[in-house]
Amino acid sequence: MTSINRYLILILLIFTTAVLLLTYNIGLYKTFTIKLDDTYSIVGVSDQIQGGETTIEVEKRADGIFFRCDIVPAYQWPYCEVKIHLVPQNEKGIYQFQNGLDLSEYDEVFLDVDYNGPKPERLRFYIRNYNLAYTNLETDENSMKINEVEFEPNAYKRGEFVQLSDFNVTSWWTGLREIPTEFQGREFTNVPLLEIASAGLAEYGEMEVFIHEITFRRLYISRENLLFSIIAMWVSSAIVYLVVQLSSYRLRLNNAKISKNRLLEILHALKLEKNQIDKMAKRDELTGLRNRAGLSKHFSECGLALTEKNKPFSIIFIDIDFFKLVNDVHGHNTGDDILISFAQAIYNNIRIADKLGRWGGEEFILICKNSGLESAVATAEKLCLIIEDKVFADNLKITASFGVAQMRSDESTRAFIERADKALYDAKANGRNQVQASK
Ligand code: GH3
Ligand code: MG
Ligand code: MG
Repeated sequence: MTSINRYLILILLIFTTAVLLLTYNIGLYKTFTIKLDDTYSIVGVSDQIQGGETTIEVEKRADGIFFRCDIVPAYQWPYCEVKIHLVPQNEKGIYQFQNGLDLSEYDEVFLDVDYNGPKPERLRFYIRNYNLAYTNLETDENSMKINEVEFEPNAYKRGEFVQLSDFNVTSWWTGLREIPTEFQGREFTNVPLLEIASAGLAEYGEMEVFIHEITFRRLYISRENLLFSIIAMWVSSAIVYLVVQLSSYRLRLNNAKISKNRLLEILHALKLEKNQIDKMAKRDELTGLRNRAGLSKHFSECGLALTEKNKPFSIIFIDIDFFKLVNDVHGHNTGDDILISFAQAIYNNIRIADKLGRWGGEEFILICKNSGLESAVATAEKLCLIIEDKVFADNLKITASFGVAQMRSDESTRAFIERADKALYDAKANGRNQVQASK
């Protein structure tokens, strides 16, 4: 995950959270408005059914329901009310009360009602609930539960919100019936009927009521759900982020391991190459023998053995006779071939401990370890004869001259080689194809 992506997601989360909180504050509601036109059967009722004399006239107007009552003290509890039937009637004109609406999902009801009449300026709003546990209209026509709230219609000019939790079940309704405890509370699961009635303790006289709006509503998302969603969103984002981060670390770790192994392989190859180069630096390309650098280590070792352990060591300086002539007559390539065969011939006839090297051109040095002058001279004599007897490429016969010297404990390597070279010079001067020793 790149850092830009990370910031984008963070901004998106903050933005979504802000939008959710803002939406919650502004409020996004699910509403259900009771239609006050001809959708529902709306009927006016008064205490005349109980033998009272209160009158009621109901008028459907374009913008609501208007009703006028004359409350007369003939009945013990005089009242008038408007019934709004939320259920249809069957062909016999009987309301299908059992098919009420489930209003339990709503939190509050908006009541926009005007009142004009004697004090107290109060009205009752009933939400009737049908439940077979206590409703039997055949034996008790008032057996639908009365969820009641008394409100002041003129307190708020533009209507007021009443919480459904503020509704109570009227005690006279429960009192007259044997309602099990668990059914005594308010209930809005099956509502076939709404009623707006005069106040419980209504003054006598004329009153006019205009019902403009009855709307049930609830927030689409509750506070708990909102908080839960926001927390869930953040937590799940954090988990996704951690998982992605973890797998990217794993990937990086894996890549790092692969890179490390590649580097190790390269290092190994470089080491091999270095060894090769080191070897090559100490070897002569043409003959494969040691070169001067290759010999120098053995000079040092033998010098040390001489000074510390008094072990003698000698060298034999070898130079092919008239080699220039070979080149001149037979060509440089033949010269090369002879140099290779010459080196091989010497190499094949010396001890493993002795170290042979090409000093340059057609000159070679043989280091004879643990050898005094006499033994080295004997080796040189032997080699001189071998070369003399050998037949080289193009049926050529060549000879070589040998200068032998034993190292003195007080001399430098350079002086020591010079002495051997001097002995070689003597062999040349003395007729070549022979061994001369430095005394
Ligand atoms: P001497 O008996 O006095 O040693 O005579 P020489 O001709 O051997 O000695 P000189 O020093 O005059 O010549 C050495 C020759 O060796 C010269 C050169 O052409 C030849 N030579 C040196 N290195 C190589 C090489 O790598 N390959 C070939 N083919 N010839 C070489
Ligand atoms: Mg030479
Ligand atoms: Mg020579």
